[in-house]
Amino acid sequence: MTGPSSPTGTTRLAAVIGSPVRHSLSPVLHNAAFEALGLDWVYVALEVAPGEAGAAVAAMRTLGLGGLSVTMPHKEDVAAAVDRCADDAARLGAVNCVVPEPDGTLVGHNTDGPGFLAGLAAESGVDPRGRSCVVVGAGGAGRAVAMALGRAGAAEVAVVNRSRERAEAAVGLIGETGRVVEPAAAGPVVAAADVVVNATSVGMGRPGPDDVPFDVSVLHAGQVVVDAVYQPLVTPLLAAAARRGAVAVGGIPMLVGQAAVAFELWTGHEAPVEAMVAAARSALAG
Ligand code: NAP
Repeated sequence: MTGPSSPTGTTRLAAVIGSPVRHSLSPVLHNAAFEALGLDWVYVALEVAPGEAGAAVAAMRTLGLGGLSVTMPHKEDVAAAVDRCADDAARLGAVNCVVPEPDGTLVGHNTDGPGFLAGLAAESGVDPRGRSCVVVGAGGAGRAVAMALGRAGAAEVAVVNRSRERAEAAVGLIGETGRVVEPAAAGPVVAAADVVVNATSVGMGRPGPDDVPFDVSVLHAGQVVVDAVYQPLVTPLLAAAARRGAVAVGGIPMLVGQAAVAFELWTGHEAPVEAMVAAARSALAG
């Protein structure tokens, strides 16, 4: 069986562009998936300087790449450089995955929202339909998660963010069920929610025990608390949520979920999610 460890003249190439990109987990996830299914594909990380995303998209076309992932700081520039954007990417103005169609058209997608919902369902069994949700953070991840929860039929999506304009922009993507909540007023709203999501970067890296994005003393059993942060695997927020009896879901399911959607768009094969989760966990633990 030909796999990523033995590229040949027919091997298909996919890549992630970003700056910096060398810590990206995407090569680990996608190469594990190609290997698990025995697909003759290989995935590499390419450092692309800020401002060069348009040239990278042109190179994707010239080189015939089978798929392209996009990370910071290129998501907005790639949305402008592709031939067209699918609905989620157009509304978010940000592309994290480029798919070449058979006629060569390059279509920009944003898979963060569907990836988040897939991870939530897999880890907690919770369907957001009719649920009361809070999203803390309104950057790229927060907007995608808020929009996905609104689309999934959440009864309410409250967005809490340090800077109010970004919270308002996120609520604009949700429709009638969205509302902005000031950080100072978040306590009772978080306490009353079924699903609480941290989409800020608070808790990332080497956090101290108090590096949490809101007052965790209001969390309780019966809630699902999701942290988009995946490094460390257990953030101070997740530790507090578990201590208080809530279901705690880390960032790996969303990370794998967004990659799995991209994988399926590129290859047409159902993604081997378990192999991807195992590869991510082992890369982060190592
Ligand atoms: P981003 O666009 O830079 O947004 C950062 C967000 O964090 C903003 O809402 C920002 O608030 C908030 N923030 C940063 N520092 C803060 C602080 N000290 N106090 C309160 N709020 C703070 O970043 P992003 O792409 O959305 O990523 C956010 C996090 O999600 C990162 O940790 C990233 O690794 C993670 N992520 C995970 C996945 C996954 O698949 N699991 C996918 C995407 C992102 P302001 O708007 O006020 O600046």
